[in-house]
Amino acid sequence: MLVKHILRDKGRDVVTIAGDATLSEAALLLARKRIGAVVVRDRDGSVAGILSERDVVRAVAEASVHALAQPVSRHMTRNVITCTETDSVDDLMELMTRKRFRHVPVLDDEKLSGIISIGDVVKTRIAETVREAETLRGYIAAG
Ligand code: AMP
Repeated sequence: MLVKHILRDKGRDVVTIAGDATLSEAALLLARKRIGAVVVRDRDGSVAGILSERDVVRAVAEASVHALAQPVSRHMTRNVITCTETDSVDDLMELMTRKRFRHVPVLDDEKLSGIISIGDVVKTRIAETVREAETLRGYIAAG
């Protein structure tokens, strides 16, 4: 199973925000969209960073309510790890586990073409496991 197979099912929409938006605006967006991370875009549309709910929690822990008026660019992670559509879901799961993050933007020809969350990966792995078990049960029943 490849990243493009997940995107085919879940779609390619990526929620993004500008780096000069406030943390308060980012928190509102995360809550409204019911997601855990937003990709931060530069003016030219390229990926400038990623901001997850953990970054918001960390900022509030450090600066209390003042953090909410600070720009997203101050709290985002700049060195974004991305994947491509032809990466395998197994490799992505290994990457997320090793790097300890739950979101990976997908780049196609350097353009943002989707985002995969740990929830997408787990859902896909469970579906695969169920299918494998059904196939095995079929073999056993037929034999
Ligand atoms: P998460 O587990 O995705 O909520 O993110 C945990 C931390 O990793 C936060 O500081 C995020 O900004 C950062 N992070 C999340 N996804 C990525 C990614 N693909 N590349 C680099 N850092 C990330």
